[in-house]
Formats: sequence, C-alpha cells, structure tokens
Amino acid sequence: MALPTGRFAPSPTGPLHAGSLVAALASWLDARARGGRWLVRIEDVDTPRCVPGTDRVILGQLAALGMHADAPPLYQSTRGAAYQQALDTLRAHGWAYDCGCTRSDIEAAQRAAGTPRQRHAQAVYPGTCRAGLHGKPARAVRLRTRHAGLGPRIDWVDRRLGAASQDVEREVGDFVLKRADGLWAYQLAVVVDDAAQQVTHVVRGADLADNTARQILLQRALGVPTPSYQHVPLVLGADGHKLSKQNGAAALDLSDPTAALRAAGRVLELPDMAAADAAAWLHAALPAWAARWVA
Ligand code: GLU
Repeated sequence: MALPTGRFAPSPTGPLHAGSLVAALASWLDARARGGRWLVRIEDVDTPRCVPGTDRVILGQLAALGMHADAPPLYQSTRGAAYQQALDTLRAHGWAYDCGCTRSDIEAAQRAAGTPRQRHAQAVYPGTCRAGLHGKPARAVRLRTRHAGLGPRIDWVDRRLGAASQDVEREVGDFVLKRADGLWAYQLAVVVDDAAQQVTHVVRGADLADNTARQILLQRALGVPTPSYQHVPLVLGADGHKLSKQNGAAALDLSDPTAALRAAGRVLELPDMAAADAAAWLHAALPAWAARWVA
C-alpha cells in the first residue's frame, strides 16, 4: 500500500493568513495522524498573480509554527515539461483539443443555442471547437469531457462533505488545460503534481471542492490514481466571503504561534487543548484529529 501522503499547496499570492493556516494545519495533521509524509507545493503557475518572495515568507511561517515538510518544496514553475508531457498524452488519446474561441464567441454560441448556461459567472463551454477550429487560430487547449467510458458524471465521497456528484460536461463544459495566454491551467498542474508527488490524501479548503470532479476526470484520462479528498471549512471575512487579502485578511500574527494554531484548531472542530508551545499543541492535536477525522 502507498505511504499516506498529504500536501499543502499554497499559491504564493500573499503570506499565510488565518484562513490558509486552517488548510495548512489540516493537511499536516491528517498526514501525520496517518503516520505519513507531508509535502509542500508552491503553486506558482499563474505568474501574474504571484508576488515574488511570498514563497519564502510562507515557508518561514510554516516553520515558525512547527510544520516541516518531508521534502524540499516543489515549485510548479519548474514543472512545464511534466505538464507538456501530460498534455501530449491527452492529445494522443484524443482527450485534448485546440480551441479558438474568445469569451464573446462562447457567449454568442450559447445565445444561438438558446441555452445560456453560467457557472461562477463563466459561461459553460458549449463544445464549439470539438470538431475543429473552423479556420480560427488556436488559443487555449481544452479537455474533451465526454469520452467513451470515463464520465462525464463523476461520483466521489468527500471525507467531510460526504457523497458528491457532478456531470462535468453539463455543469462545467470542456475545461481549459492550457490557457490562451500560454500558462498552464490549475486543473492540469494540480493533477500532474498530485500524481508525481504520490499524494494519497488531499486536504484543502472547501472553496476548492467544486474542482474535484474535474480533477478525477483528468486522473482517469491520464491513468493515474485518484487520492481521497477532504475539504475543510473556510474562515470567512467580514463580508461573508472566504477570507482573503481583498477582504482584509491580516498576515498571521506569529508572536504567539500557539494562539494561531488554537484558532485554526477551532475551525477544524478540534477540542481546546492545553499546550505550553506550538510543538506541544501540534502533538496534542494529532490524536484529536485522528479521533475526529481518520476512520
Ligand atoms: N493553490 C491552491 C490555492 O492556494 C490550492 C490548490 C489545491 O490544494 O488543490 O488555493
């Protein structure tokens, strides 16, 4: 059996705050409670959103809290060859195709079909370029979500949220693997890297739960294992949305690391634990996590 392996995969867009600490802590506790490995991956594919130097700030914050990875961090910016290889594999099997549509092309095609389907303010891709580019230049590369035997309906069981199901073709559409600006899409990068790092247990924020079906579909297309998923509660900002820099998340106050861990532990439904310092708190939290979340 594969060694239980978890990961924390921050995008280096800002320092850790109270919300991202919850995801980091949960993934650490889960991996350690299973006697497994814990890895850190810096998700710096979306370069325009990355803030230089933030990776080191995040790694320093994790170290100050007593969370140390078992391997040097993996940077997605170094992984282009692996993503290209995955894309080549998908193309060879007829799973990936070039798309020449602009946003307004997609909206026009939807209007013409009389089915304007929206999802998170993005139009569901109607499949216009599946049969060819019709003379348009190639822009993005998309995954063909309808393909013999592998979906498009994906069923899975989240370890906190329970049974879930999504028809990827109908609810999302053929999604982007490589963007029109030439950058690798999150979905492809995360699936290729979870497989390369042999991640068995993904623990991350609930805002990412909706990506899971797409990732499972891609895993099937690439013939790699599907990890088990757990999506942990988000910390909300004053505006009721996920805590982020935009709605006032302060960088973590690490003058009292134990207090920061304690606050994150409450979000994860762990009992209050007496502890002299961060290391003692983490130690005490392991059996509490195992009792609550490890079957
Ligand atoms: N990089 C993503 C984020 O910071 C997390 C991706 C994942 O855990 O799958 O939101």
